[in-house]
Amino acid sequence: MSDPFRRSARIDAVELSEILKISELADALKREGRDVITLGTGEPDFSTPPHVIHAAHQAALAGETTYTLTAGTLELRRAIAAACQRENGYTPETAEIIVCTGAKQVLYNAFAATLDPGDEVLIVAPYWTSYPDIVTVCDGKPVVMPTSAETGFRITPEQLRDAIGPNTRWLLLNSPSNPSGAVYSAADLEALAEVLRDAPHVGIMVDEIYQHISYVPFRSFRAIASDLADRTLIVNGVSKSYAMTGWRIGWGIGPKRLTAAMLAVQSQITSGASSVAQAAAVAALDGDQQLLAERSDDFRERRDMLAAALNATGVLDCPSADGAFYLFPGCARAFGKVTAGGRRIESDADFCTALLEEEGVALVPGRAFGTPGYVRLSYAYSRASLTEAATRIARFCANLK
Ligand code: PMP
Repeated sequence: MSDPFRRSARIDAVELSEILKISELADALKREGRDVITLGTGEPDFSTPPHVIHAAHQAALAGETTYTLTAGTLELRRAIAAACQRENGYTPETAEIIVCTGAKQVLYNAFAATLDPGDEVLIVAPYWTSYPDIVTVCDGKPVVMPTSAETGFRITPEQLRDAIGPNTRWLLLNSPSNPSGAVYSAADLEALAEVLRDAPHVGIMVDEIYQHISYVPFRSFRAIASDLADRTLIVNGVSKSYAMTGWRIGWGIGPKRLTAAMLAVQSQITSGASSVAQAAAVAALDGDQQLLAERSDDFRERRDMLAAALNATGVLDCPSADGAFYLFPGCARAFGKVTAGGRRIESDADFCTALLEEEGVALVPGRAFGTPGYVRLSYAYSRASLTEAATRIARFCANLK
């Protein structure tokens, strides 16, 4: 008899995340009493600023505990528009903004609202692991454009031109990038926009969630290519900038016909985002912005320290990263070698498993991001954890034969 709870074809196609596999192994080792350092998670280690928490508290006490408009409160959408003007030099109308339950839902809403089976979405590898899976869940077909350290993990205009086909519905860009830290410069974005001007059937989704963690000047695609605004969706949110991952507030900025379709999706799955969290996000956007630069500087120091330590191993090849809080070094020099514990390393996954089992450091293999031969480390951890992790990684590499 067939199981009523068998997975639908749509969900069956979504793979168990590689990140999850490593964290499960890390948890199992921790339960055995092993001292494990995890550099796997994409979450700032700062706390949500106190004035933001205070605003949420006040909102709840003032009765802001009911459903909000599905597109988000007017206060928050106005604060988003003001932040856009202040930081990126353009002012969206409130009807061009949709507030969602995290930036992740912006992606889901947009793809669910626009993709039909067989429609293709161009995704740059290394990519955030959820990109292809969200496309698949929404019946689309992810088409991966590989990059490497040689091009700074950025696609070239030629590569984009070759990848666009008749079934391409979207290009999905992420700058600064998780996991590579790549940031597209104004010139890079202009060159890509030039290609996109010749492809009027392609929508452009730009995930700018790490905008405030950039060590080079950040430019929003929408400001660079304002003539393409009619088919551009910008994704952003408070999760990374203001250390608010648990509050679940993200937003999309796009043309009204798209935000209206996304609203139709959202109205049938979650309705408006949390009222109290939206009040908190207003306080974050309207409040003191000095902390953004301070936190970004702090991340940069940690990046420099960890990148230097990784390069000193002589095994990991770690280009610097211009943004976000990840490093993405190549580990191919370890291939064909044997660890102190007798494990042979032939892949990035072997490297991560052996490092975890033998030294108790959890990293994520590059293949989880569509780019084998690399590993991802997050440096959103305390300096003490990073120093200890670096010592263990160095020992692991020194013992390779
Ligand atoms: N985009 C990227 C590139 C991310 O790394 C993440 C979080 N890991 C998100 C979107 C999702 O953000 P949120 O938590 O606001 O849903």
